[in-house]
Formats: sequence, C-alpha cells, structure tokens
Amino acid sequence: MYILLVEDDPELAESTSRALRSQGWKVDVSARGEPVPRSVKQDAYDLVILDVGLPGIDGFETLRRLREQGSRTPVLMLTARDAVEDRVRGLEGGAEDYVVKPFALAELLARVRVLERRARRRDGDTLQMGALRVDLDGRRAAIDGQPLDLSAREWEVLAFMLARAGKIVSKDDLMRSIAGWDELMSENAIEVYVSRLRGRIEPAGLRIRTIRGLGYLMEERPPAG
Ligand code: CA
Repeated sequence: MYILLVEDDPELAESTSRALRSQGWKVDVSARGEPVPRSVKQDAYDLVILDVGLPGIDGFETLRRLREQGSRTPVLMLTARDAVEDRVRGLEGGAEDYVVKPFALAELLARVRVLERRARRRDGDTLQMGALRVDLDGRRAAIDGQPLDLSAREWEVLAFMLARAGKIVSKDDLMRSIAGWDELMSENAIEVYVSRLRGRIEPAGLRIRTIRGLGYLMEERPPAG
C-alpha cells in the first residue's frame, strides 16, 4: 500500500509514519491539506490518512476538494476526541473511517489493515463478499451472477453495509446515508429494509447480525457444524 499521511504535528507525523512503514507500507507525509488533491491525482495513493485540524484548509475541506475532483481514494480521518459531529461530517463527506485522537498506533494500524483488505476486495466499482457482488455504478446486485431484484432503498442499504462489512453500522448511520435532505426515515423503515435484505443475502453465505444497542454487522456466515 502506498499511503499519504497528512498531519501537521511533526512528532505525530514522525511516529505515525514510522509505524506505518514498519508494516511494509510506503508512506509520504504532507503537513498541509492544500497540495493533497493534486498529489493524490498524480501519485495514485491507495489511502490518505487525513488530520482534521490543519493549517490553511482543514481536513474536511481537503476531503471535499478530493471528492469534488472525482478522487475515490479511501480517506481515514484523524478527529479530535469526543467531536461526534466531526466524525459524522467526515463520513458524510466521503471518508471511509476515522480514528479519534489521541490514538494508539496499534489501533490505527488495525484500521488501515481493514481498509487494505476492503480495497483488495474491491474490483473496479464493484464490491464483493462471498457470492454477493454489488455494482456501484450500475446500482445492481447479484449472487453468483444471478441479479437480485431490489428496490432502490434496499440497494442503498445493502451497498452501505457491504462497504462497511465486518464493522458495526448504527441505525443512525444508515438513516443518515439513505435518507435525502428533505425526508425523514424512521428506525422502523431501516429495520424493515434490513430484515428483507437478510433473506436476500442468505444464499450468498452472508448474514446481518443485530448488535444490541449498537446496530448491525454484516459478515460471512460461519460454516455450519
Ligand atoms: Ca493537526
């Protein structure tokens, strides 16, 4: 993996980049957000680790410009402790994940590994898990090549969950991602979509577990017996 770390604190940039390199990853460091959209385009990074608090344009603006120019490079945000709004803003802005500062390097490395695995599963603009394949551009899904007949909403829930497979997704995350600006979506509606999807993805060897009080977790079903 080729990683761009955007962090203005020299000590943190140094310790973080050293830890990333110890995993065999190649790392560039930038102390500012401005040059990021340009450099990402040129260098084809596999991942950008982006601090929110930066001199000049901040992490959110950097992310916005990246997505505006069409970059789909995964972004992991480094957000301040307890700034729930920051995390939501980052995820809504198209970040894949976030790590809260101050973080243990082991946690950051674990998150990066998850993103690495996810990137490997991604083949062009499709997501694949088990026998399920979701085409993000065509907004279609299939199991073993057999198209799934899904409503637009069901497809959105499925794509959102598949992109975060192996991680807990809260109902709130789902509501935020699925509902438009001008509409409300109830928890009940989310529950209905999830329960319908459960039946649909079962033949692909997948399941959606309810994690009480937290949300849902999409994963491969363990083999029977
Ligand atoms: Ca900072």
